[in-house]
Amino acid sequence: MRAVLLRPRVGASVEEVPEPVPSKGELVVELIACGLCGTDVERIRGGYTAGKAVLGHEAVGRVVEVGEGVDWLRRGEVVVPHHHTNCGECYYCLNGSPTMCPEYRKHHFDPGGFAEKFRVPEFIVRRGAVYKVRGLRDPEEACLTEPLACCIRAAKRAGVREGQTVAVFGVGAIGALFVALLRGLGVEVLGVDVNPNRLGIAERLGARAVDARQGSVEQEVRALTGGRGADVSIVATGSVRAVSSAISSTRSGGVVCLFGLPSSGTKLDHDFSELLVREVSLISSNAASEEEMVEALDLISRGKVRGSELITHRFSIGEFGRALEAFEKGEGVKIVITP
Ligand SMILES: [Zn+2]
Ligand SMILES: [Zn+2]
Repeated sequence: MRAVLLRPRVGASVEEVPEPVPSKGELVVELIACGLCGTDVERIRGGYTAGKAVLGHEAVGRVVEVGEGVDWLRRGEVVVPHHHTNCGECYYCLNGSPTMCPEYRKHHFDPGGFAEKFRVPEFIVRRGAVYKVRGLRDPEEACLTEPLACCIRAAKRAGVREGQTVAVFGVGAIGALFVALLRGLGVEVLGVDVNPNRLGIAERLGARAVDARQGSVEQEVRALTGGRGADVSIVATGSVRAVSSAISSTRSGGVVCLFGLPSSGTKLDHDFSELLVREVSLISSNAASEEEMVEALDLISRGKVRGSELITHRFSIGEFGRALEAFEKGEGVKIVITP
């Protein structure tokens, strides 16, 4: 079978590999679709530092083999397996930081989500981090579960409430998902970007576009919020300039949530006194817990977040190079890989 693997000095490589075999407590899933995530691209470019080099984690597929001892999943079932999960027992798990659990990043799909079939490790299955997809006409849409779950966690951590105004900095694939989620929560959304194509998509999803190429973003955000600034700013890009711009565009007493991963070694050059003087809170949100995975799949299944509006490009495993090109050019919204 074919799979996209990460090779040192080569980057992403489409290779013929043996089919995975499930051990006790494991599953083998046949791919329906797997979203291409910014972190995959960072891993390929060599700038990613926060985990092992496995590509593809936003997957939906059909169970084709069930390992000994797994009695709650059957062959043929369409599932979203979470690529990481927490132990539920350690200090971090018991103190509200499940995504910081030492077990969280230890487990991965094998050989990754961009493969005709992949193995889901025993720990993930035992922890129940595999979700049955029900009620979706097009099960492909369920590949948005994991990225949407990450957005839900960020919105919760930032304390986003109905009626607020949230500025989303960077309306690429993940930013567009934020727009769709937040509009559904009854939030006014300002989508900030430099790319006219992305701004157009953000507008179609119900955001007001703020073109960062024209004038001051901060002035524009203030003009659109009665002079105050956004209640919450979400930085859905790794650009450090966007972080600075987000702080300045957030109202006094508001929250800036860091979501996009800057490359390691990035330094923030911003007058730090502003955070205290204006009581702006700087928080971050990293990955998603099982609670948010359940919420995300529920929103997608009920059509509250519509995958059909977000998935714009599909490429087969063999066309992975073209998928990367489309990603780098900033084409469309969400790019997915199908078998
Ligand atoms: Zn992702
Ligand atoms: Zn734990």
